[in-house]
Amino acid sequence: MFLQQCVSCGKQFPQDQFLYTCPDCGDLKGTIDIIYDLTAIKNSLTISSLKATAENSILRYAPLLPVDINHSIFRLKIGMTPLFEAPDLAKKQGIAGLYIKDDSYNPSLSLKDRATVISIQKAKELGYRIVATASTGNAAASLACLGAHFGMPVIIFVPESIPPAKLVQLQIYGASIILIKANYDRAFDICREVCTSKGWFNRSTGINPFNLEGKKTVAFEICEQMNFDLPDLVFIPVGDGCIISGIWKGFKDFYQLGLIDRLPRLIACQAAGSPAVYNAFTDHKTEPETVNAKTIADSISVDLPRDGVKALRALKESDGDAVLISDQEILATQQELAAGQGIFCEPSAAAAYAGMHKYRKLNKLNSDDRVLILLTGSGMKDLAAAEKGIKKKVQITVDPKKDDIYQKLKAL
Ligand SMILES: *Cc1c(COP(=O)(O)O)cnc(C)c1O
Ligand SMILES: [Zn+2]
Repeated sequence: MFLQQCVSCGKQFPQDQFLYTCPDCGDLKGTIDIIYDLTAIKNSLTISSLKATAENSILRYAPLLPVDINHSIFRLKIGMTPLFEAPDLAKKQGIAGLYIKDDSYNPSLSLKDRATVISIQKAKELGYRIVATASTGNAAASLACLGAHFGMPVIIFVPESIPPAKLVQLQIYGASIILIKANYDRAFDICREVCTSKGWFNRSTGINPFNLEGKKTVAFEICEQMNFDLPDLVFIPVGDGCIISGIWKGFKDFYQLGLIDRLPRLIACQAAGSPAVYNAFTDHKTEPETVNAKTIADSISVDLPRDGVKALRALKESDGDAVLISDQEILATQQELAAGQGIFCEPSAAAAYAGMHKYRKLNKLNSDDRVLILLTGSGMKDLAAAEKGIKKKVQITVDPKKDDIYQKLKAL
């Protein structure tokens, strides 16, 4: 059982009233929080009940999900992605601990699958036949993937500038693709309008509150995988602001259930070319203003963040902070993670790691800090961007003759 509540005016709506945003406050101010009766859940969801759960996906958290979902209807593994410690990186940064949560280990290779599975299930429960989304690429790939899995037709609105690998993902999963000769923000508005007139379910970020409920599961997993001993800081890449809001919701849910006894500070990492949340945060505003976004990190390239109000609230409540990084810094850290750790993430994910670097440079990290970096998507999604960051290719071409091979090996 849950209630829905407008983030701005506080008006509540019952569970069975499906709405995207508060009719009084509109799309940007009127995004919806889903609120559970946690006292009812408290007895059944405990540390020992979680430890006894064999389920190895986000379905572990069924009592805290706003849909009726189980394995009879979905078989792909979503969530329970790896979390590991990188002691060498911690040492390099001069901090007490560095942890990496790698969400590229999801079916469509990004964190977005956590949101999509909840949204699609909601669409099914409500009797929708067609699901659609606007996206910079990953939400689209995720919807195309899980739409195929659930047997639901998918319609995608994406900017024409979508990286080629993400476009191929959409095509191979069989989605109907509408390439928009404009940016993500225009794609968003067009999708919103067409869904309303056609009666399609709109999975787009921000206006669909069920996405956030899926995204929050990454925070639950962090709690469990760190044995309920949370890091001091969590670095999160921010575009529309849904992931950071979801993570905050997840930590708060577990805090209110008494499963953790303190909350981490959240650090929003944005590209210098797409700084809407950063700007609003540093200006102490509760709502972002439109910027003209341009960055190589396409998944966080957003003019007007659709979950900006919740993201700013999460930063405020968590005593968090925001940091900007250049495209160059993003590409350099992407390469550093790949060549140094064997982790190949997309630029938008590397932004979280670049953000920590920057934070360190700003002298804002303490030597006793334990830090977690959230990696949100796979490097295979944008090879052209990755290639730009490669500083030195160690590569020779040889004739298949012994002489030539041994001669040229000397150059390595
Ligand atoms: C969507 C996405 C983000 C940003 O998430 P928001 O909820 O839009 O802030 C970051 N990284 C990747 C890889 C993404 O796909
Ligand atoms: Zn309202």
